Amino acid sequence: MCVRMTGKTHTAPEGRDFALRVMQRLNDKCQEWKEAEHISYSVYGTPMESTTYKFAKCLQKRFGIIPGVTDKNYITNSYHVHVTEKIDAFSKLKFESDFQRLSPGGAISYVEVPDMQNNIEAVLAVMQFIYDNIVYAELNTKSDFCGKCGYEGEIRIVTDDDGKLVWECPNCKTRDQEELFVARRTCGYIGTQFWNQGRTQEIKDRVLHL
Ligand SMILES: [Zn+2]
Repeated sequence: MCVRMTGKTHTAPEGRDFALRVMQRLNDKCQEWKEAEHISYSVYGTPMESTTYKFAKCLQKRFGIIPGVTDKNYITNSYHVHVTEKIDAFSKLKFESDFQRLSPGGAISYVEVPDMQNNIEAVLAVMQFIYDNIVYAELNTKSDFCGKCGYEGEIRIVTDDDGKLVWECPNCKTRDQEELFVARRTCGYIGTQFWNQGRTQEIKDRVLHL
């Protein structure tokens, strides 16, 4: 929405100002409805599980491919910084906290991190920062397992001969979904089944924040 309306993402100052005003407007509307109807309306930072793909497809059909707006097979959830945008974990959490304040119905922020099993101090530093700066946030780490060869680490997404995104063990190269145990946070919860092509694309595009 920000890119379409301002030409910038909401991490740019003018985009941020616009995005916050939109969020405030949604909150004001909820307040108005609350008083009129005595029903507790609220703004919710939706995780949009499978809708991320469905909406992207519908928007493309209706408006065509608009660079930075409908050029992906997924749309970005609520106020989240785009998964491809390079930003460090602390800046991301601090930035998103202003939007959580305007999502009183519920919200969650994430930072993407590599396998952190050997860096507990860094995990604790991020947790402390979350505690001090933002209402609700989590770390997305990778702890996958290949049942075929016993590999532990990150199972990766590759493109097969038909152009489809598939998961592959970096060690034994198996693509057998029955053998691969992949856990990724896809919205509010961690999914261990496999995902549609839009969500798989979004997971593949994620940059690390730490
Ligand atoms: Zn393997």
